[in-house]
Amino acid sequence: SSYLVEVNNVKKYFPIKTGLLNRVIGQVKAVDDVSFGIRAGETFGLVGESGCGKSTLARVLLNLKSATGGEIKYAGRNIHTAGNRELRKLREEMQIIFQDPFGSLNPRFLVKDLISEPLRVHRRMSEQEMDNRVVELMEMVGLDASRRNRYPHEFSGGQRQRIGIARAIALNPKFIVADEAVSALDVSVQSQVLNLMMKLQKELGLTYLFIAHGLNVVRHISDRVGVMYLGKMVEVGKTEELFAKPLHPYTSVLLSAIPKPTTEHRDERIILQGDVPSPANPPSGCRFHPRCPFAQDRCKTEEPQLQTVSDERQVACHFPLQ
Ligand code: SF4
Ligand code: MG
Repeated sequence: SSYLVEVNNVKKYFPIKTGLLNRVIGQVKAVDDVSFGIRAGETFGLVGESGCGKSTLARVLLNLKSATGGEIKYAGRNIHTAGNRELRKLREEMQIIFQDPFGSLNPRFLVKDLISEPLRVHRRMSEQEMDNRVVELMEMVGLDASRRNRYPHEFSGGQRQRIGIARAIALNPKFIVADEAVSALDVSVQSQVLNLMMKLQKELGLTYLFIAHGLNVVRHISDRVGVMYLGKMVEVGKTEELFAKPLHPYTSVLLSAIPKPTTEHRDERIILQGDVPSPANPPSGCRFHPRCPFAQDRCKTEEPQLQTVSDERQVACHFPLQ
């Protein structure tokens, strides 16, 4: 297969329990039968509103959470049946960059300790080798290495995200999940961090799964984009094609939420009806039907499957946009 990462029919369900008796009264289908692949060297952008299951999917994919069903393959091997030695190697090769640089960095650690922690766990290095590697990593991500003996709170939001990236690349990984890695940053800082990630991708041959709630963030970094809605993948396509001609009504709604350069076009936006329904009790048929401006009777009863409509293009909708 041409994929570095393969996600086949993956499900992740969480039990819903009652407070008093702790009895299971249902389940949240956070990720419900999702399949897609990520090619070596590409960036796959994954978008959807918060609660759509994209972060849960990422954690299952990195083996940080177990799957309820389905399989995940990395370099052709099922990660859930890997032995201990193989798992250790996978943990080096697959890394994650988190959303909140405050939350993901321990404030009592020095920056050099945060960056070198994966090295301490996985490598045998002298203190001097470790320090040399920290200097090298900080330079790679555009940080002043003479500040390595400082605390993360002495760095700006964008710099803290660079610290997170330095830590993520410390073990020479092949695959990095960026989970809302730039979402908390100002737009100008966002593009600096995105540029850095693209530079590192070229230099180090990295493959990215880039997760964001908005399409505008993934546009410039992604080769292909997948759109999730309530635990389902509803559209996949090459970035430019998906932006030029969305096929799923939800993708088109997400696109219309991107501010247009001129304010005159504001009225063209499709306004989403209602809130995101709960994944514990998803709507029948197409999960998007209560909010879809194009819903018809069939959509209420029959669940649309993700179908390949052309090269690299998939959509799950009974009445895709033309
Ligand atoms: Fe809308 Fe129906 Fe398509 Fe669902 S299947 S997105 S409700 S048109
Ligand atoms: Mg999230």
